[in-house]
Amino acid sequence: MSSDTPGFETLQLHAGTQPDPVTGARQTPIYQTTSYVFEDADHAASLFNLQTFGFIYSRLTNPTVSALEERLAALEGGRGGTACASGHSAQLLALFPLMEAGDDVVASTRLYGGSITQLSKSFRKFGWGVRFVDFDDHDAVRAAIGPKTKAVFCESLANPGGVVTDLEAVAAIAEKAEIPLIVDNTMATPYLCRPIEFGATLVVHSTTKFLTGNGTAMGGAIIDSGRFAWTRGDKFPSLAGPEEAYHGLNFSETFGDLAFTMHAHAVGLRDLGPCQSPMNAWLTLLGSETLSLRMERHCSNALAVAEFLEAHPQVEWVSYAGLPSSKYKGLADKYLPKGAGAVFTFGVKGGYEAGRAVVENCEMLSHLANIGDTRSLIIHPASTTHRQLNPEQLAAAGAGPEVVRLSIGIETVEDIIGDLDQALGQAQKKAAE
Ligand SMILES: *Cc1c(COP(=O)(O)O)cnc(C)c1O
Repeated sequence: MSSDTPGFETLQLHAGTQPDPVTGARQTPIYQTTSYVFEDADHAASLFNLQTFGFIYSRLTNPTVSALEERLAALEGGRGGTACASGHSAQLLALFPLMEAGDDVVASTRLYGGSITQLSKSFRKFGWGVRFVDFDDHDAVRAAIGPKTKAVFCESLANPGGVVTDLEAVAAIAEKAEIPLIVDNTMATPYLCRPIEFGATLVVHSTTKFLTGNGTAMGGAIIDSGRFAWTRGDKFPSLAGPEEAYHGLNFSETFGDLAFTMHAHAVGLRDLGPCQSPMNAWLTLLGSETLSLRMERHCSNALAVAEFLEAHPQVEWVSYAGLPSSKYKGLADKYLPKGAGAVFTFGVKGGYEAGRAVVENCEMLSHLANIGDTRSLIIHPASTTHRQLNPEQLAAAGAGPEVVRLSIGIETVEDIIGDLDQALGQAQKKAAE
C-alpha cells in the first residue's frame, strides 16, 4: 500500500482484517463464541469499567463482528462502526443515545416503507415522535425542527422512486440547529456515495442488501463520523451526562470522537441486545470484498434496463436518477457520480392489475421482498412492501398502484431485458382479453 490513504478497492479487501496471528489463516476466522476468558480479576474489572479494550461477551463485541465494523467505518470514511442484527436495529441503535421520551425526529417522507412504519408506529411507544417532511423542500425541513428535535433522518438514495437527497443542503440545516444528520446509505453503499463527506453525522445501513450482496445474511451497521460534539448535557444526556451503569462515566468527555460508538456497544447493544452473529458478519465481510465490482455492474445493468423501459410502449414512466428525464439527475451527478444504483421504479400502463401481471409473468426475475441481491428482483410495492401505508403515504413514498420496483442484478443484461420484455407482452395480452 504505497499511497497515504489506500483506495476504496484496497480498503474493501484489507480494512479491519489481517492474517490471524495464531494460525496464519488469511481469511478472517469466524469467532463462533459467546464469551472470552479473562487474564485475571483485575483484567476482568478493567474491561467491565471500559478502561481496557477487549472482549467480554458477544452481545457487546466479537472479533469477527469487530473486523466488519472496522471495515465499514473505513469504507464510509468514519471514525467508528457498530454492527447489529439488521438495518432496522441499526436505526433503533442510532436514535437510542440521542432520544429521551418526548423528543422527536424530522424524517423524509421518502423512506423505505418499513422505516416509515418503525418511526411512526413502534417508536411512538417509547415516546419518540416523528415529523415527516418532503426533503426536496428545504424550508419545510428547517421549519419542522423544534426544540425537542434530536435528529434529522433521510436516505441518500431513496427507494422507491429514484430520489436523491441534497445531502450538503440538509447537513447545513442540521448543523445550524446543532443536531445530527443521520443518513441511511443502504441503496447507494459507500462505493457510490459517502455521506460523511457531505456532512452526515451518522450513516446507517441495512447490510442485508448490497453490502453483503448475495441475499444470505441479515445485518445492520451504524458508522459515526466522529465529527459531532456531543457536549451538551442538556440536549444529549446519554452521551454528555453521567452514565449510572458505569459509575457516572461521561462518554463524551471520556471517549471524545469515539463517544457514540462506545455508547452504542456498552449501553445500546448491552441493554437492547440486537447483536450481529459472527457468521453473518463473516458473510458480510466476504461480500464487501467485491462491493465495487458488483456495484459497477449493478449500475450499468440498471441504466441499460431503465433506458429500455423508457422506450417501451407499455411503460408510462421510469423513475431512475441516472436517466436525463429524472428531476434528480443533477443531484445524482453530484452525489452518485459512479452510478445511480440498481433499484428503481417504473409505471405500467393499466394500473394496479397491469403492475401485478408484469411481476407475475417474469420468469428469471425473482418476485420477492428484498433489494441488493446479485440476482434481479421485482415486486409490486402497493400490494406488498408498502401495503400498510394509506393512499397519501403511498403517493408520497412513490409507490402508487401502477408502480413496479426493480432491483437489477449482475446477470447478462440482455437476459434481464428479455425477461421484462416478454412479461410486459404477457401483461398487455391479459389486459386486452
Ligand atoms: C431493507 C432496508 C432497511 C431495513 O433493513 P433490514 O436489514 O431489513 O432490517 C432500512 N432501510 C433501507 C433503505 C432498506 O432497504
